[in-house]
Amino acid sequence: IGHPVIFLDEVDSTNNYAKTLGASNAQNGTAVVAARQTAGKGRLARKFESPEGCGVYLSIFLRPKLQVSDINCITLMTAVVVADTVEELCGLRPTIKWTNDVYLNGKKLCGILTECSIEGESGAVEYAVVGIGTNLGQTSVDFPEEIRNIATSVFQETGVRIAQADYAAALLKNFERYFYEQHFPENKASFLGQYRKDLFFLGQEVTVVGMTGQYTAVAMDIDEEGRLLVRTEDGRTKALNSGEISIRMK
Ligand code: ATP
Repeated sequence: IGHPVIFLDEVDSTNNYAKTLGASNAQNGTAVVAARQTAGKGRLARKFESPEGCGVYLSIFLRPKLQVSDINCITLMTAVVVADTVEELCGLRPTIKWTNDVYLNGKKLCGILTECSIEGESGAVEYAVVGIGTNLGQTSVDFPEEIRNIATSVFQETGVRIAQADYAAALLKNFERYFYEQHFPENKASFLGQYRKDLFFLGQEVTVVGMTGQYTAVAMDIDEEGRLLVRTEDGRTKALNSGEISIRMK
């Protein structure tokens, strides 16, 4: 992972750039890092603010031998990779908000977006792109006003200044460890165990926000496919796919 690394001064989105590698014979594990993104992406066409000098905006291009059903778990694995990396470099372990967000002291530190291309009807993954945007050096005024109360950086929470290159290198090394050395997806049980420990709302009441409305439920567990199991007010258990759903804390 990270052989080679493509460095860009500016790009719309490192994921978009990495997806263009799918059409070439780019090497598995190629990483794309940009100093700034002009249209960094979150889920469901939302934006990830990516100013220069403050964060690491990185996408990993993979040609994995996987089925589309494994893709969701790459996002969960990556959240654990980010938590390990941040803890290693600043001493404070982040928490995780299912499915793709990493938090520090209750504010969002990092967003992960996994995208993939599927081969025809087979469900086999042709290539996958894992995008990871992490806030390292921002102070509160560096965030646009509308996210100032919900976003944070490593520096803002701990006073530790992590160099962008150190963070990117450690992140790629940890991704390699989980994805190759421990053999994704056979290592699912192990990283999902850690993911459950890092989740900050298990056992709590949450609001499940979908396309057609919202309801209250208790977050119970994460299943082997990375779905969130919730108990609804009428006592039923539901398995939620991340697709069109957002979870809000009460
Ligand atoms: P969920 O994934 O549960 O729906 P979310 O609101 O975090 O949660 P995402 O699509 O994961 O949604 O991320 C995009 C959102 O992240 C934006 O709508 C904005 O609220 C927030 N955001 C944008 N840029 C940053 C940033 N640099 N740091 C932290 N948060 C950001």
